Amino acid sequence: MSRKPQDRRTFIKTMAGGAVALRSSLSGLLGAGQAAPTRLEKDGMSYRRLGRTDLLLSEISLGSSPLPDPDLLRAIVDRGVNYIDTSHNYENGNAERRIGRLLQDVGRDKVRVATKFHVAPRDTPASIMASVHGSLRRLDVETIDVLMIHGAETAGVLVDERVLEAYEKLKREGAYRFRGLSCHANHDEVVRKAVDCGLYDMVQVGYNVFDIQESTREVETYPDYLGASGIRDLLELAHSRGVGVIAMKTLKVGGRRQDLEKYRTGAVSLYQAMLKWVLDDERVTSAVTEILNRRQMEEDLGAAGAKLAAAERTALVRYVGENGTDYCHGCARCRRACPAGVATTAILRALAYHESYGKTGRARDSYASLGSGENASACRDCGACEKACPYGVAVRSRVREAGRILA
Ligand code: SF4
Ligand code: SF4
Repeated sequence: MSRKPQDRRTFIKTMAGGAVALRSSLSGLLGAGQAAPTRLEKDGMSYRRLGRTDLLLSEISLGSSPLPDPDLLRAIVDRGVNYIDTSHNYENGNAERRIGRLLQDVGRDKVRVATKFHVAPRDTPASIMASVHGSLRRLDVETIDVLMIHGAETAGVLVDERVLEAYEKLKREGAYRFRGLSCHANHDEVVRKAVDCGLYDMVQVGYNVFDIQESTREVETYPDYLGASGIRDLLELAHSRGVGVIAMKTLKVGGRRQDLEKYRTGAVSLYQAMLKWVLDDERVTSAVTEILNRRQMEEDLGAAGAKLAAAERTALVRYVGENGTDYCHGCARCRRACPAGVATTAILRALAYHESYGKTGRARDSYASLGSGENASACRDCGACEKACPYGVAVRSRVREAGRILA
């Protein structure tokens, strides 16, 4: 299956209803009974509809861990970004508070907000609801646009009775509009379940140029590996069933933006090229990125509505070829292969937060949330995880390293 490169202009010309269907702002919600267009371009920003919802979201959306300063945040929204991804625990709740102040400033209808709750073994429907009520208070809104399970890594959590009861009660309260989930690992199981159970309107998954098929070793023999993604079948499945797709980790898990500077040549910004690569897939509604200064804002917003140029594609090929072999795709094969039940995927992700983003506190919290039976202390040093990894990641030594640094 190939990606579906879009002819944006043709698509926009033929979209039913198109821009005229929008009667007010570009923030996404339409009037009752009014069908949302699939796409819209206005004032330099491109918008896509999120699956079967009526939300029209900017192709570039803003991550909030960390958030930019208030002036830059306002500038980003003024440039047409209308979707912010957050969570109850980002910046200890301060991300939601700052987004709440932004909404007061620009108006509630200008920005769609997605936030998340965690599900731990000790949680009950009441504790999940309490977490969401906290988000509502901090955001200072009556209704959350998209309410996600944070970091769903098993199919079971999607149909967990505690989660479904909380969702039902919160729906009756009017606390949210659409259900979703973010998924960092085990995408195959989680996304398939999200689509098949029919309970979720969107999925937020890591998706970036490193998602080549099966193995970066194929780079030498696979002629157009940028056109193939390890999760493309899942995106197609979701898209075909009306489940919206938001792409996160668009740089890569643990990727550092500054590492891309050496690939900047002439007019080519590699990070912008990576965003264009993600958005070239029409099954993706929006790409989440972190913007912390004006230069990044220009660079990232420049990816909206733009095609990937030949020079950018060449730069991406070089970058992936030079950096692909140690990148963890979160496929969870190592975890499934581990006879000791070590949560290898979660451990590697925590280590990446520490090493690449410098988010050591978040990395330690994440590591601490693992039980002693699944953290690095449970490792028996058998090496089965490394044999299972199709990308050649040195899983065993990375798990040990995480144990040393984060325990
Ligand atoms: S080396 Fe450790 S983490 Fe890897 S499979 Fe063996 S027990 Fe599991
Ligand atoms: S280390 Fe390899 S096998 Fe394990 S989740 Fe990452 S890519 Fe998959």
